[in-house]
Amino acid sequence: MSVDFWQNDLETLDRQSLEALQLELLKSSVDQALQAPFYKNRLKKTGICSGQDIKSLDDLKRIPFTTKDDLRESYPRGMLAVDQEQVVRMHASSGTTGKPTVIYHTIKDIDVWADLVARCVLASGAGKNDVFQNMISYGLFTGGLGFHYGAERVGMMIIPSGTGNTARQIKLMQDFSSTVLHATPSYMLHVNAKLIENKIDPKSLALKKAYLGAEPYSENTRKKIEKMFDIDIYNSYGMSELNGPGVGFECVHKCGMHIWEDCYILEVIDPDTGENLKEGEQGEMVFTPLRRQATPLLRYRSRDLTSIIPEPCACGRTGRRIARITGRSDDMLIVSGVNVFPSQIEEVLMKIPEVGTNYQIYLENKGALEKMVVKVEIYSKLFEGSAAALDKLKAKIREEIKAQVVLNPLIELHEPGSLPVYELKSKRVVDNRIKL
Ligand code: AMP
Ligand code: ZN
Repeated sequence: MSVDFWQNDLETLDRQSLEALQLELLKSSVDQALQAPFYKNRLKKTGICSGQDIKSLDDLKRIPFTTKDDLRESYPRGMLAVDQEQVVRMHASSGTTGKPTVIYHTIKDIDVWADLVARCVLASGAGKNDVFQNMISYGLFTGGLGFHYGAERVGMMIIPSGTGNTARQIKLMQDFSSTVLHATPSYMLHVNAKLIENKIDPKSLALKKAYLGAEPYSENTRKKIEKMFDIDIYNSYGMSELNGPGVGFECVHKCGMHIWEDCYILEVIDPDTGENLKEGEQGEMVFTPLRRQATPLLRYRSRDLTSIIPEPCACGRTGRRIARITGRSDDMLIVSGVNVFPSQIEEVLMKIPEVGTNYQIYLENKGALEKMVVKVEIYSKLFEGSAAALDKLKAKIREEIKAQVVLNPLIELHEPGSLPVYELKSKRVVDNRIKL
């Protein structure tokens, strides 16, 4: 499989050269950060007065972590490190709780970001001959515009369809022979359901690939969608604080997401102690962007949990890969004292063939106990099945979840299309428990 590179030299640097480059860029990033009121204050206590005080990559540990709360508290301009006239764009997170987080970009920031996304496109084996349907939000959310600029740079024909209006999305796919889609996994499952409902065979479309991200999904979900559409799915990782898409992406080997390490220093830490963990150990990713001007960040705690895959990849890219995100350190559920990640439940559900495309986890109190109710849509064909068959299926789902997470959930089976659909990030967990 021969695949092009977008920035060959940077994507294939040997470790030693990469680390030398990281050190140089870290020094300039520290200088840049010191231009922002937040870091000027934060770094006072560390004795780091300029980038020259950083002598090795190990000195990174002298710098305190930056958190989402820090970003919120410095709203709206505390993190801005350039003059207003240099800023060409801002993006902001949804901010459903409290103040949103804002990231500003200079023209150079946008340029670097577009190159990173262009790398992702080529890594997946796509290119200028592809028709790219960008089925993700344009706006303050970074997914739409972020991917748009990178895809345009590569020369793909972009259909900037954004989210929603699934009937129109399908028509666009058919009329313009879209070959690559960008969406959330949950929306992709919804598109599949709509195709079936309209008696269109998903495999009859011109699609070859889809880039799915913005929310966690399991390997079984990937396999399920690949089979439905007969396409390749590439996992895409990013977050608005780190630009958006273009932080981690899978190459054609689909064995973990390459991190563009000439642009981000990646650490994995124990979320409780803050200690650095070794390659292969599961923990929280911490990122230091290395080329940012308007909003530099130092040691940003992502809250996302995964591990580094240190083995070299057959594609030749030397940026180390990360395994699928298993969840966020703040989305772990504790139900009756048992720790559960929603991703564990999804992993189980998506390997059961009778399970359809949507599910939700409800947490409730039942007397003194806490109960987990898993609501699952099933395939239309099976929905007409006998009561006995449905009971058997319920029991099977319950047993499989129990084997995975020790809890004994209640299972509710639902008609296809009856659970809520989310165009962007799906809400998988509804916690109705009384907070003490
Ligand atoms: P936002 O800043 O709104 O773009 O959200 C970023 C968050 O979405 C990340 O911190 C992750 O928790 C989640 N996310 C993005 N991409 C993925 C992915 N491929 N797999 C799992 N979670 C993801
Ligand atoms: Zn690779």
